[in-house]
Amino acid sequence: AVLPVIALVGRPNVGKSTLFNAITRTRDALVADVPGLTRDRKYGYARVGERRCVIIDTGGLVETVEGVERLMAEQTLKAVHESDRVLFLLDARAGCTPSDLHVADLVRRSGKSVVVVANKSEGLDPEIASADFHQLGFGEPVPISATHVEGVVSLMERALEGFPQSEPGDEQTDHTKAHQPRC
Ligand code: GDP
Ligand code: MG
Repeated sequence: AVLPVIALVGRPNVGKSTLFNAITRTRDALVADVPGLTRDRKYGYARVGERRCVIIDTGGLVETVEGVERLMAEQTLKAVHESDRVLFLLDARAGCTPSDLHVADLVRRSGKSVVVVANKSEGLDPEIASADFHQLGFGEPVPISATHVEGVVSLMERALEGFPQSEPGDEQTDHTKAHQPRC
C-alpha cells in the first residue's frame, strides 16, 4: 500500500519546521527566527504506533513582503497538490491574520481534507487557543505546542484517521535512506 502523504502548510513563522522536526525527529528541516528560511519542500517519514506516513514541510527564502505571499502561495499549492491531507498551522498567540486567511483560501479551493492546528498553545487554555480559528470553517482546531511536543501524538492520530493501515515493508517502496523514528 502507498503511504498517506500529509502536508504542513501555513504562513511563515507558525512553526511548520518545528513540528516537522518533532514528528520526524530529524533536524532536517531548518528552524529559524527568520521567517521562511527553509528553501523548498522537505520530505520525512513519521510513525504513530503502527501507522506510517510521509510528511511535507514547506517554506521559502524570501526578501520582500510581496515575495512572501507569492512564494507561500506557490509552495503551499505544490505541497497541497501532492498530499492526501493538509495540516493547516496557525499561531494561537497571534490569532487569525490576513496571511492565514490567504492560506485558508488556497487550501479550501484545493478541496483536500484539512485539519486546523493551533500551534504555540503551551500554557494556554485549549478553548482559548482554538477560539479564533473556528471561523475558518475547517472544523475543530487541534491545539498543540511543537516546541514542547504537546498534543502532537493526538494530532497525528487525527491526521491519519480514515487512511488504510500501513503494512510491514511499506517504507521499502521508497528508495531514499530517510529513517522512520517513532513520534
Ligand atoms: P515556520 O516558518 O512555519 O517553519 O516556523 P518555524 O518552525 O521556523 O518556527 C518559527 C518560530 O516559532 C521559531 O522561533 C520557533 O522556535 C517558534 N515556535 C515553533 N513552535 C512553537 C511553539 O509550539 N511554541 C512557541 N512558543 N514557539 C514556537
Ligand atoms: Mg520553516
